[in-house]
Amino acid sequence: MKIAVLVKQVPDTDEERRLDPASGLLDRLAGENVADEINERALEVALSHKDSHKGTEVVVISLGPESVTKALRKVLSMGADSAVHVLDEALAGADAGRTAVVLAAAVKQAGVDLVVAGNESTDGRGGVVPAMVAEQLGLPHLSFLDAVEISAGSVTGERGTDSGSMVVSAPLPAVISVTERSAEARFPNFRGIMMAKRKPLSVVSLADLGMDPDFAGMGRSVVVTTSARPLRTAGKKIVDEGNAGTRLAEFLVAEQLV
Ligand SMILES: Cc1cc2nc3c(=O)[nH]c(=O)nc-3n(C[C@H](O)[C@H](O)[C@H](O)COP(=O)(O)OP(=O)(O)OC[C@H]3O[C@@H](n4cnc5c(N)ncnc54)[C@H](O)[C@@H]3O)c2cc1C
Repeated sequence: MKIAVLVKQVPDTDEERRLDPASGLLDRLAGENVADEINERALEVALSHKDSHKGTEVVVISLGPESVTKALRKVLSMGADSAVHVLDEALAGADAGRTAVVLAAAVKQAGVDLVVAGNESTDGRGGVVPAMVAEQLGLPHLSFLDAVEISAGSVTGERGTDSGSMVVSAPLPAVISVTERSAEARFPNFRGIMMAKRKPLSVVSLADLGMDPDFAGMGRSVVVTTSARPLRTAGKKIVDEGNAGTRLAEFLVAEQLV
């Protein structure tokens, strides 16, 4: 079985994230960029299957700028067998639609039985790319899975609902997305880090994927204006003069928080 894991490089969530006021796009040079944590969990789902099913091959696929190589070496050191980096100037500022079309082409070229993605990125937070990739490939899609079972010809998963959970399944090939409850990502060990340097990491352009860099006929979403988030104002201070409880309740009511 061959499994592809879609890994997005995102700004480290512990750091300040900024939009570039000129382009309206995320300023990816503003801080450290890392493999999205949810994608390390998606990779763990694939690697756990590989641990118990020898002969399983895991390839990670990522679309993004040059800096993505670092995130790919990290996930290779966790245990993925190879990586594909889709790198092309024409992809700068790509929206979710174009990202999905390109990732679908890379998945098709890799020839896989299962695609595992995160349910949503921590920067764009669209939560749409996995479904779009499945649509592009004409494959079934199971989304927001908290637990995953992969078997020879199908994939089954558990998804949380408002009233509990439901079990869903699909025949392979399929595309799934997982939540942060799906798995605890393993830490790369020293051997994994050393081996990652020698593992295949291929860099492909849109032309290599047989795609038109102008995306002729395909619309795109554009950022029209951006405005900075208003600075956080100091909160309201309530000094207890024996009636703090009442005044807090009044404040909560006034702010319609209760
Ligand atoms: C603040 C912000 C707002 C944005 N708003 C919009 C918008 O309104 N409309 C729009 O079309 N685009 C928007 N984008 C751009 C969008 O983030 C990118 O196109 C992105 O690559 C895909 O969308 P997403 O991050 O929302 O992905 P999601 O759908 O949230 O990602 C889900 C999963 O898909 C996979 N995936 C997503 N992107 C990649 C990638 N580049 N490489 C590999 N795997 C990937 C990962 O497994 C990820 O966990 C926005 C970006 C930012 C930073």
